[in-house]
Amino acid sequence: MTKIWEVYALKYSERNDRTRADSFIFEENINQQHDMDYFIWLLRCKDELILVDTGYDARDAVPRQRPTLREPADALRQFGVRPEDITDLVITHLHYDHAGGLPQFPNATIHIQAAEVAYATGPCMCHDALRMPYTASHLCDLIQRIYSGRVVFYEGDAQIADGVIAYQIGGHSRGLQALGVQTESGTLCLASDASHYYENVFLRKPFPIVVDAQDMLDGFNRLEEIATDRSLIIPGHDPLVTSYFPNWQDCDFIYRLDKGCKIPFDL
Ligand SMILES: [Zn+2]
Ligand SMILES: [Zn+2]
Repeated sequence: MTKIWEVYALKYSERNDRTRADSFIFEENINQQHDMDYFIWLLRCKDELILVDTGYDARDAVPRQRPTLREPADALRQFGVRPEDITDLVITHLHYDHAGGLPQFPNATIHIQAAEVAYATGPCMCHDALRMPYTASHLCDLIQRIYSGRVVFYEGDAQIADGVIAYQIGGHSRGLQALGVQTESGTLCLASDASHYYENVFLRKPFPIVVDAQDMLDGFNRLEEIATDRSLIIPGHDPLVTSYFPNWQDCDFIYRLDKGCKIPFDL
């Protein structure tokens, strides 16, 4: 029988100094404030844990002038999990806000798409505009992990664990992977940056950080195919997640995602 997973979102940062023009191509209300939240995600099945992304830590918060509310590793500790306890780590893509602080997870085997590593270390990174979301030291940390023999490369869709499937979705970067996770509510889709906001996927609005708009739009269709229903698609950066889903215990920055939620479907 397929394993059933609990899924948690741990919020570690937020930004309010941005507008809808930063979130949607062809947006009309370009000057309207549009907040962004930052999460890491944790899958749990009994004593088995899979961490999904590592967020960014102080090494990026200072130069990018994006202070965190808490270090992602500390958010994990609040949940009762030590970073060194993580043995399986899915990196959805290598943007700075998803792949920082790898040395804090010394015992983790990293699960990643080969296309993402090739893209983030290849000739496209000679362009400032394409390099901007990446941090060179994160890639050095990843390469060290490769040389320690603890990186699993996937070439397209792949099963990562019983009940956890990675789906390669292009568009935002070359090798982003969203996850389909079996939960008691059905198949939940952790979209990560395949859809930053509910509006991106539901209204088919491309996000401005894009390497291939057609792939991004195809990816929106894909997310709806992966999830059992639309309420189980979890966008990567939408503050609405924190109001649609219940808090874990009384912690005000950890949310339980696998029990379902009430999304207003006029979105
Ligand atoms: Zn991204
Ligand atoms: Zn992101």
